[in-house]
Amino acid sequence: MDDSDILAARSLGEIHERMAAAQKRFGPPANHVELVAVSKTFAAEAVLPFLKAGQRVFGENRVQEAKDKWPALREAYPEVQLHLIGPLQTNKAREAVALFDVIETLDRDKLAIVLAEEMARAGKRLPCFVQVNIGGEEQKSGIAPAETAAFVARCRAEHGIDIVGLMCIPPDGVPPGAYFAHLAGLAEICGVAGLSMGMSGDFELGIAMGATHIRVGSALFGYRPKADPR
Ligand SMILES: *Cc1c(COP(=O)(O)O)cnc(C)c1O
Repeated sequence: MDDSDILAARSLGEIHERMAAAQKRFGPPANHVELVAVSKTFAAEAVLPFLKAGQRVFGENRVQEAKDKWPALREAYPEVQLHLIGPLQTNKAREAVALFDVIETLDRDKLAIVLAEEMARAGKRLPCFVQVNIGGEEQKSGIAPAETAAFVARCRAEHGIDIVGLMCIPPDGVPPGAYFAHLAGLAEICGVAGLSMGMSGDFELGIAMGATHIRVGSALFGYRPKADPR
C-alpha cells in the first residue's frame, strides 16, 4: 500500500459513511444506493487505488477516454461495471456498446434506434437510463420532462431497450431538491425503478429523494480542473 492507496481507501470510506448516514436518516426504507465513481479526466493510475480499495462501479463521460483508460484496468478487474454518463453521438454507439455496461444518457429516438441495432449486433442488452432535461435548460441534453413517459414507452415497446431508470443533472446554482423530486415522480409515472441523481455536492439530498444511483467524482478523486460538456 502506498499513500495513494491509503488516500483512496479513506476517501471511499468517507463517502460510504455519508451515504449510510443519509440513507439511515432520510432515505426510503431498504433502498439500495449504488455509488458510481466518476473517474472522468483522471488517469488509470489515479483510478487504480480505488479499484484496490474495492470500488467496482465507475462512470465516464467520453467514449474515447473510456477506450484509452478502461480495457487495461478491466483485465485486472473483470467485475468492473462502467456507466456512460456523458452525451452519446450515434456514430460512437458501437464503441459505447463494446465498452460500457450501462448507458445513463439515452435521450432521443435516433440514439435509441442505433443503440438497439448495435446491441443486437453485439449480442448484448445493456440496461439504459433515460436522461431527462429536468430544468428545461437549452444547453443541456435530455428528453423534456413532459415527453419522458412516452419516450420510455417507445424505447421499450418499439426499440426493445431495457430501460431501468431515469437520470438527471439539475441546473447549477439552485437547490436541486425540487428537480430530484420531479425526477422521482416521473420515474413512478414511467414505471422505472432506477433514479440516477446526486453528485459530489448534493448526493445526500439525492439519497433522501430516493436515488438508487449517485454519481460522485470530485468528492472521491479530488479537484477536477477542466470543465466538461454536458
Ligand atoms: C462529472 C459528472 C458527475 C460528477 O460530478 P462531481 O461534482 O465531480 O461529483 C456526475 N454526473 C455527470 C453526468 C458528470 O458529467
